Amino acid sequence: MSITPLMPVYPRCGVRPVRGEHCHLISEDGRRFLDFASGIAVNALGHSHPGLVGAIQKQAETLMHVSNLYGSPQGEAVAKRLVDLTFADTVFFTNSGAEAVECAMKTARAYHQSVGNDQKYELITFNQAFHGRTMATISASSQEKMHKGFLPLLPGFKYVEFNDLEAAKAAIGPNTAGFMVEPIQGEGGIRIATDEFLQGLRALCDEHDLMLILDEVQSGVGRAGTFFAYEQYGIEPDIMATAKGIGGGFPVGACLATEKAARGMVAGTHGSTYGGNPFAMAAIGAILDVIPDEAFLADVRAKGERIKARLEQFIGNYPDLFELVRGRGLFIGLKMKVEPRAFVAHMRDNHGLLTVSAGDNVVRVLPPLVIDDSHIDEFMEKLSAAAADYKIEASV
Ligand SMILES: *Cc1c(COP(=O)(O)O)cnc(C)c1O
Repeated sequence: MSITPLMPVYPRCGVRPVRGEHCHLISEDGRRFLDFASGIAVNALGHSHPGLVGAIQKQAETLMHVSNLYGSPQGEAVAKRLVDLTFADTVFFTNSGAEAVECAMKTARAYHQSVGNDQKYELITFNQAFHGRTMATISASSQEKMHKGFLPLLPGFKYVEFNDLEAAKAAIGPNTAGFMVEPIQGEGGIRIATDEFLQGLRALCDEHDLMLILDEVQSGVGRAGTFFAYEQYGIEPDIMATAKGIGGGFPVGACLATEKAARGMVAGTHGSTYGGNPFAMAAIGAILDVIPDEAFLADVRAKGERIKARLEQFIGNYPDLFELVRGRGLFIGLKMKVEPRAFVAHMRDNHGLLTVSAGDNVVRVLPPLVIDDSHIDEFMEKLSAAAADYKIEASV
């Protein structure tokens, strides 16, 4: 037998973390890494955050799981906090981002079917989008590399160019249920929606009674410098999926919706065995104790600006390697002029710096939101050293 016990769907690298200490990871062989990947925008409070660890420990001793057949004081309290902090009137808790997106898509269809528009089932989504790995969420993405081997896709999706409002408008037809979009594409390469684009989609939804679904699984929960990225656009969605940072490492997600959008989501229409169990609610509660605070978010924005300013100055030294810096808050992309994966591996293996590659030749810089200036200094030192000997390697 040659297949590995872990199904070999990930090209795993040689770093094997066994312990986390604030913004660093320690591997099985004792090496120490600066973690500017954060488990792909998950470890918002870094590793070993006492508030998060304490909340999970306490909940484990009290009550980990009960069925959604019972009343949930824990879920009600956390849902109320999310409702108070956002556009939403109601929340469904999931165990992952893809499930939050699934719930969002079902909510949009159920809205139209509940008002008698059974033909409105199609979602318009955008090139380079990433919405997860379930059948529906890969069907929602135009990226063929995720489709290969899994055909046929689910029907009901139409893809158009990101940031192209005219194309989005032209794609609306009798079957359109709404749009689903990441305000800032993560896997796509930190591609930022323009104000005109998101505001234009909102206006089209209002005009045609369509649902605007935002996928803030990666951009949300402080990552982009506001509690959710949509706040920076002066618009509100009808439905929103979030996950990643909201559990800080505990696997939990949420689908948020307005009362109007959720009108089809009545008893018996949807469910999840684990979704929103007391364990998950303790994790979200600990995150909400820290991140939505305006002073905390202002600090995230300030640190993001400092990193971007230093990166912009730095890339001038390596015009053959780097093209530009973009992002909001601590959701930062460093666009390279070469394929970024080899450079990400070089930073990791030779300089102890963890980042994540993305589409559009981008290196994603996703530090824990709790970094301080010493981590920014360490990041710049490691990155500079990596660029210096990468250049030598490449030119030899
Ligand atoms: C990661 C991600 C997902 C999927 O989340 P999972 O927890 O891996 O299922 C969906 N949408 C976006 C924008 C993401 O970044």
